[in-house]
Amino acid sequence: SGEGVVRNNEENIYVSVRLRPLNSKEILRNDVSDWECIGDKTIVYKNVNLSASERSMYPSAYTFDRVFRSACSTREVYEQGAKDVAISAVSGMNSSVFAYGQTSSGKTYTMTGITEYAISDIFDYIEKHPERKFSLKFSAMEIYNESVRDLLSIDITPLRLLDDPERGTIIEKLTEEVLTDWDHVIQLLSISQRQIGETSLNETSSRSHQIIRLTIESSSRDFLGKDNASTLTAAVNFVDLSGSERASQSLSAGARLKEGCHINRSLLTLGTVVRKLSKGRNGHIPYRDSKLTRILQTSLGGNARTAIICTMSPARSHVEQSRNTLLFASCAK
Ligand code: ADP
Ligand code: MG
Repeated sequence: SGEGVVRNNEENIYVSVRLRPLNSKEILRNDVSDWECIGDKTIVYKNVNLSASERSMYPSAYTFDRVFRSACSTREVYEQGAKDVAISAVSGMNSSVFAYGQTSSGKTYTMTGITEYAISDIFDYIEKHPERKFSLKFSAMEIYNESVRDLLSIDITPLRLLDDPERGTIIEKLTEEVLTDWDHVIQLLSISQRQIGETSLNETSSRSHQIIRLTIESSSRDFLGKDNASTLTAAVNFVDLSGSERASQSLSAGARLKEGCHINRSLLTLGTVVRKLSKGRNGHIPYRDSKLTRILQTSLGGNARTAIICTMSPARSHVEQSRNTLLFASCAK
């Protein structure tokens, strides 16, 4: 039959790497930067002190859709690594933008900027398209220990995920704020930031995944001002992932065991899902194995568009984590 066409998802997952500058802590301990971007697509490890055997163990050059050297601004990272994907929801395509990397590599720094730039561009787009009527809804949630909570509510009761045959996974009782204007966006972003901060015991935020979701609905207006039936609905998700060191760390003892398993579950399942999607195979994609991938199912794979920005420290002392990050990024390609 003409059915089993192998879909090549290459164009649907855009993978980039962002190197941050050495921070003051790294500089103070005389750490050095060992990574360098060559051109726009390649990053190389240039530690000359490596023995020949160490050198043969790892690739020294890695190539992606785009690499961002440490001097690049978040505006550049957004324009070249996320914008197309982030604003595709205005034309009815679901999408997700992820930041992946070890704790302190720059995920939140990158994602905060990108989210603001993208929403601002979506506002501009709407202003330039008066022939369509738009409605925007804003939600923010956190997944910690395979438990989902609403970042726009003071109620910390875990939210349940429900399956809807039409709409996919629904997050029961999640607050959806209808956006009015830019000030409202800033207000909601700061409420969710505060919610993350307030419950942040022992750097909870490095162990949790945070998602900001913008749902865009639009319909065309005919010249009588009546709405016609052609309604488009799509969501864009801005995902600040938990520190990737959790996915590679050996399990911690005792009470931490359960938590470690769960954190690994969402991040590891995401890795599996992304890897399978990037292979373009039609086989089973294990979306249902974690909360994160269930929530993002309709915005990941299929006709959805995905951008993954892998953030990394250039420091020699972080080389092991940086290699893990580049390995993840390579598998996503
Ligand atoms: P993560 O969310 O991955 O744990 P953060 O985004 O919180 O990391 O970044 C850690 C620190 O490094 C923050 O103080 C942040 O402001 C700074 N930082 C991260 N990326 C950059 C960058 N590209 N340029 C300048 N400072 C950065
Ligand atoms: Mg962070």
